[in-house]
Amino acid sequence: MTRRGQGRAPHESGVVSDPGLVIDLDDAGSTPILQQYRVVKAQHPDALVLARLGDFYEMFGADAQEAAPILGVALTGRGFGAAGRLPMCGVPHHAAPGYIRRLLEAGRRVALWDQVGEVVPGRLVDRAVTRVLSPGTISEADYLDETRVARCAALYCSGGRTGVAAFDPASGELLLTEVAGGLDSVPLREECERLDVAELLIAQDADAAPPTLLPTIPRTVLPPAFFDSSRARERILAVTATQTLDAFGLQEVDRAVCAAGAVLAYCERARLTLTAGFVHVRRRNDSAGMRLDAQTRRNLELVTALGGGVSLAALLDRTRTPMGARLLRARLLEPLTEPLLILARHDAVAELAVAPRLRDTLGEALAAVRDLERLVARCVQGSAGPRDLAAVRQACAALPAIQDILSRAQAGELTTAAARCVAPDDLAARLRELLVDDPPGSARDGGCIRAEADPQLDELVGAGAGARTWIAGLEDGERQRTGIPSLKVGYNRVFGYYIEVPNAHRRAVPDEYVRKQTLVGAERYITTALKERETVVLGARERALARELELLQTLTAGVADHAAVLLDASAAVAILDVHRSLACVAVEENWVRPLVDTSGVIDIDAGRHPLVERALGPGRFVANDCRLDAAERIVVLTGPNMAGKSTFLRQVALLALLAQVGSFVPAERARIGICDRIFTRIGAQDDLSAGLSTFMVEMAETAAILRQATSRSLVILDEIGRGTSTYDGMSIAQAVVEHLHDAPPLNCRTLFATHFHELTVLAERLPRVTNARVDVSEDGDAITFLHRIVPGGADRSYGIHVARLAGVPAGVLVRARQLLAELERERPVAGSGGDVPAQLSLGIAPEHPVVAELAQLDIEGLTPIAALNKLAELRERATP
Ligand code: ATP
Repeated sequence: MTRRGQGRAPHESGVVSDPGLVIDLDDAGSTPILQQYRVVKAQHPDALVLARLGDFYEMFGADAQEAAPILGVALTGRGFGAAGRLPMCGVPHHAAPGYIRRLLEAGRRVALWDQVGEVVPGRLVDRAVTRVLSPGTISEADYLDETRVARCAALYCSGGRTGVAAFDPASGELLLTEVAGGLDSVPLREECERLDVAELLIAQDADAAPPTLLPTIPRTVLPPAFFDSSRARERILAVTATQTLDAFGLQEVDRAVCAAGAVLAYCERARLTLTAGFVHVRRRNDSAGMRLDAQTRRNLELVTALGGGVSLAALLDRTRTPMGARLLRARLLEPLTEPLLILARHDAVAELAVAPRLRDTLGEALAAVRDLERLVARCVQGSAGPRDLAAVRQACAALPAIQDILSRAQAGELTTAAARCVAPDDLAARLRELLVDDPPGSARDGGCIRAEADPQLDELVGAGAGARTWIAGLEDGERQRTGIPSLKVGYNRVFGYYIEVPNAHRRAVPDEYVRKQTLVGAERYITTALKERETVVLGARERALARELELLQTLTAGVADHAAVLLDASAAVAILDVHRSLACVAVEENWVRPLVDTSGVIDIDAGRHPLVERALGPGRFVANDCRLDAAERIVVLTGPNMAGKSTFLRQVALLALLAQVGSFVPAERARIGICDRIFTRIGAQDDLSAGLSTFMVEMAETAAILRQATSRSLVILDEIGRGTSTYDGMSIAQAVVEHLHDAPPLNCRTLFATHFHELTVLAERLPRVTNARVDVSEDGDAITFLHRIVPGGADRSYGIHVARLAGVPAGVLVRARQLLAELERERPVAGSGGDVPAQLSLGIAPEHPVVAELAQLDIEGLTPIAALNKLAELRERATP
């Protein structure tokens, strides 16, 4: 098939400079490389095949067209006479990781077709696909973000439930769980987000996975056979080297077992090594953690900051290892709901918080462990380099040091984790004995193994020594013998050793010199004796290099053999690192240990919003109290715009969340009755990508909260009803508060911020509602925000004052004030003082006759013209 000038305009980047006939791989000529490339491409039709040709990785045909714009490299082409031009693009081999990472981040799969044989000029070198990389099957450090996990998750849906098996190739952890609903269910989406899924695997026969299921995550469709139940069980048994699945607690998650079969088969196909000890299966316990929906994660800025600030994860992250940073992130996204587990974490933080020296020494020891988890994964995959091995050696030395440092620790979380910091003795000793102190980045040129560490290697190195000394002395000897002072002995990869003589001395060259190469001002020669020594030197060097590689491989395999112990130690290090990090935050930011119980109370003295406090700088944040208990369940918070309502709401949610994560909290005192869930509905945001208006998003989020909250939940509602007309909005806001207050399963702790100050009268009718407002001080026209939350409701909004602060021109402000005065005269709103109305009046004026007529109108009975006329008439009557 041929396509003329397909694709992009010539001025775009990544364009064939010749817009002529662009041809497919199949139509290009049959060079030997292209023939082989076609075969590889047929085996990996869904991957971009990167062919290693000398110093470059090249792509051809459609792959090149697809990759060039992603990589930002020029799309060139190779002409095939009249047939046309085959698109090509390439990236230098030495810079390949960066480019490959870009392809993976764009959701593409990449097959590396590498040179595996010796390069012999004039002969086609052997090539093989050494790795198929996809966003969820990466263990190489070059392609991974060290602070994030990237899991590959298979989904298997049947009978209204979905099994999830999520594998992390960079740690060997395989998590199994099941959630209610099919592929379009909210719990599934939330679970995948929590698991940091980077690639989804779905069965071909699954009811076409809906586009709403994580549209940004690349998905791969697999044949149903991948999900076969009995094959799945065999696979899990094989990779864990166990006889039965009983120990993993997978009895009630059959669908997840099928999914696990698929993810394991898929990873094997991607050439990942899955060995017992490395792969560790864990059933996810969904009842221990708090579910946080996407809005709440975003609204509370847990891992991503809104605007220019820092996220909570960034503020809390004082970890010293990437493993700790990853665990901290995971814990933030899944706070605990079990008081005893939370208490145990607080104990650990408390102990470290009062021991500055312990924190310092522990920090240093932890830092030395580096990313042991991923180092082990690379050893299992056989992709570890000499420096990775040196890092494992350093970690092995640090692990017992951590045990020592914590030998007198009291908190259970610290002592159990410390006990798991075990380095296999024999491995540590072997690494120390064999590996040089500071090995080179690559094993290619040798120099990784200590002298006198391996007799065989020493012998091979020694074997060439005589010949090397002879060659080293040759230059001086020949200069004297020939009388040529500028004679030089050198070496290059193509010709080996040579003797170089400048042209001026050509006459003095002895007869036995054989000319090999002519340069501009000199000739290069060899002699039989030199070549004999060269064979000895190079032979010995080659054999010594081979022996070094062999030794490095045994070291790598030794690490892989101890994967289970080392991975367990890395998990323990991550736990210690997180506790230490939270202790540092507690001390440096002046946070206190919260009391966590099942009381259903939230009682905070002088709480602060950690991120706003950080943004404002020291001493500027105004701390506030918060009380929610059985008698006061709902706080209606009013106050002008910009006064600090949203900040207060988020602050309370953040304190509850931090407490349940196991952290101290920014307050003088805090008691948090466990929240089973925290819901937030904050701000008006369009979800244009899903085609939803601001108001629709607002209502959908509110609906989800009203359906899912329980009496143990914490609900934060900010400006409900802002996205529609005043009366609509106010009515909805009121109905929501009433429902939260009265609906039997709800009665949940709720903070409700509103600029409808009319809603403050609700407190007089609903016993568990109280009013609070953000205080302002007024001086004539000027107002100052005090950011102090005080009891009682605001009796007006200060929109015009805020408009003035924002720099709206004086003329506009004067007119706005006139209009406000008129409106207030015409439609007085119900106040909160005086007589308590039985039902809140929203101040809606008596029904206008035009409205009454509109309501009665028989639209179907009108012709379009009559409808237009009616409309004109109504407008006339409606205009004062
Ligand atoms: P709007 O109704 O317009 O959304 P708001 O009442 O929710 O406003 P916030 O967004 O919470 O107001 O706060 C506005 C700004 O006021 C914050 O960005 C912060 O700079 C400051 N602020 C809020 N709370 C405090 C506080 N407790 N102490 C000091 N400054 C605060």
